[in-house]
Order: sequence, then C-alpha cells, then structure tokens
Amino acid sequence: DIVPVRRALVSVSDKAGIVEFCSFLSSKGVELLSTGGTAKKLREAGLEVQDVSDYTGAVECLDGRVKTLHPKVHGGLLAVRGNEQHEKQMDEQGMKPIDMTILNLYPFEATVAKGAGFEQCIENIDIGGPSMLRSTAKNHAFTAIVTSPEQYSKIQEEIETNGGTSLALRKGLAAQAFALSAAYDSSISLWFANQLSSDAPVTARVYKPEFPLKYGCNPHQKPAYISSRLGCDLPFEIKNGVPGYINLLDAANAWQLVLELKQATGLAAASSFKHVSPAGAAVAVSLTDAEAKAYEVTEETRTSLTPAALAYLRARNADPMCSFGDFCAISDEVDEATAKYLKKEISDGIVAPSYTPEALEILKSKKAGKFIVLQATPNYHPGDVEYREVYGMTFSQKRNDVIIGKDHMQKVVTSTTNLGDGAVRDLIVASICIKYTQSNSVGFAKDGMMVGVGAGQQSRVDCVKLAGRKVTTWYLRQHPKVLALPFKEGIKRQDRVNARVRYIEGDFTAEEKTRWEEHFTETPAILTEEEKADFMKGSSGASRLLLNLVAACKISRSPKPATSTAWPCASQGPVSSTTRI
Ligand code: 5GP
Repeated sequence: DIVPVRRALVSVSDKAGIVEFCSFLSSKGVELLSTGGTAKKLREAGLEVQDVSDYTGAVECLDGRVKTLHPKVHGGLLAVRGNEQHEKQMDEQGMKPIDMTILNLYPFEATVAKGAGFEQCIENIDIGGPSMLRSTAKNHAFTAIVTSPEQYSKIQEEIETNGGTSLALRKGLAAQAFALSAAYDSSISLWFANQLSSDAPVTARVYKPEFPLKYGCNPHQKPAYISSRLGCDLPFEIKNGVPGYINLLDAANAWQLVLELKQATGLAAASSFKHVSPAGAAVAVSLTDAEAKAYEVTEETRTSLTPAALAYLRARNADPMCSFGDFCAISDEVDEATAKYLKKEISDGIVAPSYTPEALEILKSKKAGKFIVLQATPNYHPGDVEYREVYGMTFSQKRNDVIIGKDHMQKVVTSTTNLGDGAVRDLIVASICIKYTQSNSVGFAKDGMMVGVGAGQQSRVDCVKLAGRKVTTWYLRQHPKVLALPFKEGIKRQDRVNARVRYIEGDFTAEEKTRWEEHFTETPAILTEEEKADFMKGSSGASRLLLNLVAACKISRSPKPATSTAWPCASQGPVSSTTRI
C-alpha cells in the first residue's frame, strides 16, 4: 500500500516550511506543480516548478478566484490508478496523475478576527483549495492530502523510510482534511448567519467538536462528545483529570452560580453540585462557634480560613451527605487553604478562575491524580440564545442572564418590612441558588449559606417539605447530643458525617442500627422527637432558627414548557406551616 510520490501539487496560503518540504520532495525526484504566489516563492528558493496554468493551459484569472478549478487538476487527483478506462481518458485529455496535494486554505477565520469588512471576508472564502482537498482526500487510496505545516516532518520521515506514503498515513491525512473542511465551512456559515439583520431568524448553529467523552449520562450512551458553539471557545480549560458528561454539566451550572453570587454580593462564593443541582451554595460569612463544632472545624483551621475556603466549607456543609462526590465551583483564586480543605472531602472536581501553584499541586494529587481541575475561561461569553435538543426537537430561548441583586428585593410582602442587610443578602443567595435547580424548587438560606434545597419536585408542597427536612437536619447537627457522639478512632470523615445524619433521622432498620452502632465506642442514647422539637424551637438555649431564615422558590409556569422555568421569586418567612421549622 505504499504509493511513491512522482508529482505533487503545491498551493499554500501559509507558506511556513514550504520551501524546506518542497526541497526535500524535489531531492526525491518529485515534480512540483504550483499556483501563483506559491510557485514564485519556490522558484525564488531555486526549485524547479511548473505553473498550474502552464500544465492546464488555462491562465489563473478573476483575481485568483479561478486558479486550479480545471479537469486536468481534478482528473489528476481523482483518477483511480489501474482502472483502464480512467487511464485511457486521462491519456486522451492530457491529464497526469498527481500523487500528493500540499495546501492550506485562505485564512478566513483570521480575516474575520482581524475585523475585516464584509467584502474582504467574502474574498477570503477559498474555493479551489477545499475542492482540491476533497478530491485528494476522497482518492486517498492513491493520493495524499497535506493540509498543515505541522504534518510535513512526519510525511518526510515516511517517504524517507518507505519510499512513498502508506495507506494508513493517507487515511489519517484524509480524516484530518475532511475535519478541516467541515470546520472551515462551519465558520463561514456562522459568520454569514451573523451578517443577517438582527431580526432575521438565525438558523445556522454550528458546533466545533472538542473532545470525546467516555460515555454520556449512562454508560450505554455512547458515543458522547463535547463540542463548542462556533464563535465561542469552551468555557473551561482542563488542568487535570478527564471530565465526564455530568461533570461538565455540573461545572457549567456550578460556575455560573458562583459568578452570579460573587457579582451580586461582592463576597467570595462557592457551590457544591451533584447531578446538575446544587446540594449547597454559600458566600464567605464567618462561622458561629456552634457551626465550627458541627462542621468539625478546629480553632486553628478556623483562623486560617481564607474567604474562598470559608465559602466552600459553608457550601459543602449545607447537606454534606448529598455533597459526597460533588463537583464544586469557587468564585475566587483557589489558595492553599482551600485546596487543603478540599483534599479532605470526597469530591470529583472543581472549577475556579485560577489556582496558586501550591493549590494546583495539592488538587492534582487528589483521587490518585484523577481529581478534575478546570480553569474558567476569562471574559467568556456564551451567546444570548441557548438551545436544547430533546427527541429531535430543538428548543431555543434567550439565556436567563438576569443577575438577581438588591433591586429585586424591593417588594417586601411580609409584615416585617425592614429586612436588614443580612436577610437581603441571604435572599439573594437563595434566589440565585434556586435559579440553578430543576423546577419546582424551594430553598432556605441563613448566614450567606443555603441550609436546605428542595429541588425537582412536581408538588410545591413537597419542595417545601424536602427543603424543610434538610434545614432541620442541618440545624440538628448542632445539637449537643449530636456533637457529643462518641466516635471510635479512625472512623472516616464522610462516615462521621453520614452517621450523624442517620442519628438525626433515626429511621433505621434493626440491621442498619447494628451497623451504625459499630461507629461508636459506646451505644449512643437516641435523640428523641421531643429533644429535636425543643432544639428547633430554641427552648434548649439556641436562638430561634426561624427568625433568620429566608426562602426562595421557583415554580414552573405551565402551560409554557419552552420557557420551563419561571423567573425565580423570593419571599421571606415565616415559613409555610407544612414544615416543622
Ligand atoms: P498562491 O499564494 O499560491 O497564489 O495561492 C494559494 C492559495 O490559493 C491556497 O490557499 C489555495 O487553497 C488557494 N487556491 C488554489 N486554487 C484556487 C482556486 O481555483 N480558487 C480559489 N479561490 N483559491 C484557490
């Protein structure tokens, strides 16, 4: 399957390395055919070149629009070698076989990026180049298509070793060429669509394949791929690990959430995602003594917490059982303190704007080197319209880019009209967090932190119950009996977290209870319903939780499924009587 190269057609816009490569080909006895500018460059370097116009007998014309569009060029590229009829027709028409095409296309994208005008962009749409590219790639059984200076050295090596090009090489080059042709046409079509007047419907949506994923939502959903919309880069750069489908969905939502929290409050923010909903989200507000104990924060750690670390610690402690194996986002640079805290938690990955070198090293070593570290692309613009495909239908809508801030908290509907700065901040936190849940949702916030997120329920009442139950569990983690649970030495952090939650919930089967008791040096006395109720009411000395709790909710606005989520609204307590808090 080795094809010797006897004749090569050379037509390149990017002339880097072309003289060296063609000198090599020439030294191997390859005849060179070339177009205007390229031929001139090769001749200046002392190489013997035949002009394509000389070979075809048709002059290059129309300001270079027609140079290689000729049957003698495409016949030479497309003819099937060894096919008698093809060879006869070639002889009759004076066509010579061309075994290699070396080309790269007019720099369309670079011309657009330079801010060139409409006419100049149009002139930079290559016509002959893509045609030769396709002819050569189609006939890769006999011809080699070379589309980038980066390929020259490998091809040179192969010709040197084998005396020609192998089928494997030609196939690989053809695949690269077709991908290039697709991307080239995609950028032209996207640019063209954007030239239409703004009220014309933009139907052209073009994607650039970025990298394959191991699988999609489930292991049997293969193949799976990540692409970026042409004109937008990917929002993240991968610093470590191999992100999966859900990881990237989590990262995209978690990151938007913290960006908005930071923008709205001015505080460092963090979120902890599982299965595309936030288990927790928070801004950097200092911990109370009771919280420090409940979250197992030592006095030494507490004093060294940076705002980024504090925000993540809070986000992670809203519902630490759900946050097991989370994907987190942090609005600020990740420093050593944050990385050290994260290292202790079971987590899948992180997205942040930047990392200190020390923090990056710590994170890269997490999960035996598999912890996913993403760096957000600065000044990223995802476009105004977002699309979603379900069962062959494409839904599009304007992106929900409203940033919820103080302005949205003007209409106070409760009897308490003076909310205070803390409550307004918490309402903003709750409203932004709920924006990134699946509707219907209700969430409660306190001290800059989500303390209960009830998401994705059909019934609003169920959302309240779910969120309320989470708040209750969160608060009871501060109960003296919970704090005093006598754990054995060596019980892992996440196991302690889970055991406390199970103690609070108290709904064990006999077998579960036996396994649970193995965590302790002695069997703990149960936490009675009365003790829980007393603590919640504040009668056990704790301040009444209700006074400082705010809630936000999001409900579907049927029957408008295309805009499935209504504008997130927020209201302040007292909380619905359907919850116990
Ligand atoms: P040169 O600098 O050699 O004059 O032109 C090289 C460029 O012309 C390459 O980018 C190649 O893809 C492009 N090209 C080759 N043939 C044609 C043609 O027939 N029409 C147009 N528009 N471009 C061509």
